[in-house]
Amino acid sequence: MKKYLLTPGPTPVPNSVRLAEAQEIIHHRTPEFSKLFMEASEGMKHIFQTKEDVYIFPSVGSGAMQSAVVNLLSRDDTALVLETGKFGERWRDILGKYGVKAEVIAYDWGKAARVEDVEKKLKAHPEIKAVFTQLTETSTGIVNDLAALGALIKDTDAVLVVDAVSGLAGQEFRMDEWNVDVTVAGSQKGLMLPPGLAFISASRKAWKLVENSTLPKFYFDLKSYKKNFEKKTQPFTSAVSLIAALNEAINLIKKEGLENVFKRCARLASATRSGVGALGLKMFAETPCDVVTSVRVPEGVDGAALVKRMRDEYGVGIAGGQADYKGKIFRIAHMGYMYDFDIIIAISALEMMLNEMGHKVELGRGVAAVEKELLRK
Ligand SMILES: *Cc1c(COP(=O)(O)O)cnc(C)c1O
Repeated sequence: MKKYLLTPGPTPVPNSVRLAEAQEIIHHRTPEFSKLFMEASEGMKHIFQTKEDVYIFPSVGSGAMQSAVVNLLSRDDTALVLETGKFGERWRDILGKYGVKAEVIAYDWGKAARVEDVEKKLKAHPEIKAVFTQLTETSTGIVNDLAALGALIKDTDAVLVVDAVSGLAGQEFRMDEWNVDVTVAGSQKGLMLPPGLAFISASRKAWKLVENSTLPKFYFDLKSYKKNFEKKTQPFTSAVSLIAALNEAINLIKKEGLENVFKRCARLASATRSGVGALGLKMFAETPCDVVTSVRVPEGVDGAALVKRMRDEYGVGIAGGQADYKGKIFRIAHMGYMYDFDIIIAISALEMMLNEMGHKVELGRGVAAVEKELLRK
């Protein structure tokens, strides 16, 4: 069966990226690798929209999240978590493991963080050293207003730490312009790569915290990455094949233009919402992001079975809900290597499966709405 991957990570990988990954392995302590590595690091600065160096780990996104915590903070420090879903909870979990006190503003799933809440919290707790949040909260499909959060936090002593794992190279993001101090990301979402690389970049303000942080770290010690970076290398064995693939992915993004990538994802998001809306289904996110659309499972339909049957019977992979929203929502991704006809496939499979499951919708209605939206521009 032909398979279609429309999940919010991993995402499909273009052939040229897979071929780049399949090149002969080179040693990581060679001028040849240094060249590849510096090219990748330079390219990632563009994608992060920062002038700071971007460090690359062989890791998944959660490793980069852990690296942010252990490099910025010390035991008994206080941090603030803006918890908008599953990945916000992950920040809290990591902080807890390292004995950092976490102030948490927990939002109902589907809602974004509010600047006024953060302002109040920072006033009440001037000891807060870092604010942890997400660019896009993949579990709910919301986008946070980072420009506004950054504008608030830049005038405080705290740093703004952003998990852009699912948002990077999909949702508009400007690290420096928006005063984001630390950004973490992963390879298997908007970057169109297999899982296995993670990224982190830190502002000058954040590096001051790094200098004073005493939490234990070895593998993720940013100072050692920085020291090695100056010698155009990394502390341990580099993920040479993934870095070769990353360079090709960056080339593809640059060829299309980062701004055009943002526009494409926004356009696919709006087409997806049209299609789902035309089927009478309700959106879940209050402030929907451009990289994944979350939808409420209609009354009387088994949401887990819907996702499973689309995958097993049609080969169309979408994601279900997480935690309390298992079976209650489903999520269609439109990030990375995804284009107009991927959305048509997703909505076509959705309307067919809803009918098969006894939730009658007019066949073609969702697809027609997607097509109309796509033809608008
Ligand atoms: C996917 C994702 C992560 C990290 O996932 P890993 O499985 O560790 O790569 C973190 N945050 C968000 C918002 C994500 O979507």
